[in-house]
Amino acid sequence: MIYLDHAATTPVPREVASAMYEVLTEQFGNPSSQYPFGAEMKKRVEGWRETVAALMDCPADRLFFTSCGTEGDNWALRAAAWQNRHVGRHIVTTAVEHSAVLECCKWLERDGYEVTYLAPDQDGTITAAQVLEAVRPDTAAVSVMLVNNELGTVYPVADIAKGLPLRNPKTLLHTDAVQGLTAFSARRLGADFVTVSAHKIGGPKGIGALYINPRVKNPRPLLPGGGQEKSLRSGTEATAQMAGFARAAELRLERLEENRAHLESLRAYARETLLSIPDIVPVGAGTAPHILALSLAGWPAGNIVNDLGNQGICVSAGSACHQGKPSHVIAALRLPKRVASGVIRLSFGPETTRAEIDACAQALRRHHDGRMPML
Ligand code: PLP
Repeated sequence: MIYLDHAATTPVPREVASAMYEVLTEQFGNPSSQYPFGAEMKKRVEGWRETVAALMDCPADRLFFTSCGTEGDNWALRAAAWQNRHVGRHIVTTAVEHSAVLECCKWLERDGYEVTYLAPDQDGTITAAQVLEAVRPDTAAVSVMLVNNELGTVYPVADIAKGLPLRNPKTLLHTDAVQGLTAFSARRLGADFVTVSAHKIGGPKGIGALYINPRVKNPRPLLPGGGQEKSLRSGTEATAQMAGFARAAELRLERLEENRAHLESLRAYARETLLSIPDIVPVGAGTAPHILALSLAGWPAGNIVNDLGNQGICVSAGSACHQGKPSHVIAALRLPKRVASGVIRLSFGPETTRAEIDACAQALRRHHDGRMPML
């Protein structure tokens, strides 16, 4: 199998699985238990937190484990809205956020919030000025993702954070950094809430984290209960998942520069190779090194994905979370219909090779030439 869908999820390296296995079978204690076996687990939880915080470059005591990126996005938005309930009931976000943010915004609309959804230009670009202009005296929260999961566009979160106090010093800034986890420093970004998820960097599914800036005093708990995660997100700690997240973070930290250089060269190679196929056009002005969006203009993306899938090549049409439904991100670009219908996303990981890109290019060429049956 050739896996070119790392933005959907990533393979778990053996070292990560072993760290999890050890915790599941030997170090299985409950961190809340009083005896030394439990206390030892509590220490390990704090160690794992420090490792993930090191990858994000944020203080560990403000990083809270969650069950996934979706949970972090929902928690951040609701906590920010609640924190600023006296400021107003207006939220600014973009039309190209992940549905974890968009669907949460819809719920907030049902609760009486007004949400401004900023449209990107045809390249998927949204400027800091555009975001800041939309901020009003009653804006409780702004939520702008760091890297778009379908286009690889990188949004100017640090510039938004810099400009926000001038527009409204009370407004809180959230960024969904799920697709940028190895590429930012939370300290330098300056956002109040930063969401991440382990399964995009070789960690297990079912674990994420939310960084909450110290300037957010007494953040609203997500899950009141037994008091875990400083009483903000109760529930017995998912220790094996945390161990896996931390080991994956360590592996990525060790090879940060090497991985980045590999992905950048791979993406440039893929772009050049695939754009030489007739009717393939680039989509968006994405620069994230692991995501490449393209369109085989005139060929339905669903058919391409099925055809390639039948040949053992995994790519995706829009986001994997929207299977079967047209992607809201591609719709927001307002591309010509022929281009919009043929958009596919290739996404890479440290394990991806040029030979895999070549095989994908061959399969796309066959699809284009009609030598493979169209589904
Ligand atoms: N945000 C973005 C940008 C994503 O790409 C994803 C997953 O695809 C999520 C949020 C949701 O993360 P999770 O799958 O951990 O809930």
